Amino acid sequence: MQRCKDCQAYQFYPRTICSHCGGRDVAWSAVSGRGVIKSFTIVRRGISRAYEAPYVLALINLEEGPCMMSSLVDVDPETVVVGARVTVSFESWSTDIEMPVFKVAQEG
Ligand SMILES: [Zn+2]
Repeated sequence: MQRCKDCQAYQFYPRTICSHCGGRDVAWSAVSGRGVIKSFTIVRRGISRAYEAPYVLALINLEEGPCMMSSLVDVDPETVVVGARVTVSFESWSTDIEMPVFKVAQEG
């Protein structure tokens, strides 16, 4: 994720300047991959064969601060709850594209 070298804030989506302080010195930084479900919806009608319904789209409050929209995978949609902890995983869409998706974290 991008992080500002001036104010240390993380930001998502990527931009050429810091959305917090306007600084121009932003760089890529490794992050935890952990977050909490802020909100979600269960999509019951897929938009194409590539999106087999039902599936879950969620807003994830990332541990570092930013919020991102992503898919929840490997979960029964009816068991998803706001506030659940999630961890990132990656789906390979092609040789050039790895998409971040999230899985409900195992407690304990
Ligand atoms: Zn900044």
